[in-house]
Order: sequence, then structure tokens, then C-alpha cells
Amino acid sequence: MIEHDAEREKKIARCIRCRSEFTADQLRGVSCCPICGDTGQPLSLEDDVIIKINWHELRLLCSFAEKWSEYLITSGQVATADNFMTIYSIIGALQEQYPYFQPLSQGGELHQFIRSGRKLH
Ligand SMILES: [Zn+2]
Repeated sequence: MIEHDAEREKKIARCIRCRSEFTADQLRGVSCCPICGDTGQPLSLEDDVIIKINWHELRLLCSFAEKWSEYLITSGQVATADNFMTIYSIIGALQEQYPYFQPLSQGGELHQFIRSGRKLH
């Protein structure tokens, strides 16, 4: 019985946008994230992986994703900022793993600059 309860309470999926995690029961019958309403495919927690990558390489990938997402929006190729929000959610989740490392995105660099209290001259 205890094992059965533990299995029912086991988180199996994560929203790609808001990063909330859910059990199978919480996702039964829903067509979007119960927290943020995102309609994208939820991430299977079984697919979480640990990879080895240099922080600079990761910054390059994140910067490219950020710029590409901005381009799609500003060029009118996507009607909403949904993919932009998803890219920032992913970058944020990566940055949280190493919060004191250099920001992974230009948005993160700007945020860091603002928090530093320095001024542009
Ligand atoms: Zn969500």
C-alpha cells in the first residue's frame, strides 16, 4: 500500500514553460499545463539527462537560441512570444544550476548589469 501511494505521488512530467512537475493523476484529462496553461508537449522526467559541456559552449547555444527566437518574433514568422518564453524558461533552468557563472543569455547579462547598480556612461 505504501509503495502504491509512493508510485501515485511520483512526478512524471515537467512543463517546458513554467517548470512545474506533475504526477500522472494531475495530468489525467488535461490538455494544457494546469499551472501556466502552456499547450506544449510536457517533458518526461525519465528523459532528464546529465551531459558534460563547457559553459562557453552552452552560452553560445543559448545565445543563438535567444537570437533566433527574437528573429522569429520580430520578422513576424511567429504570431506570439510563446517560443521566446519557452527558450527563456530553458535558459533559466540551465542558469539555475550554476547561478554564479556568467549569464547564458544577453537578457541574463542585462539583468545582471541592472542588479549590479552600475551605470552606463
Ligand atoms: Zn506550465
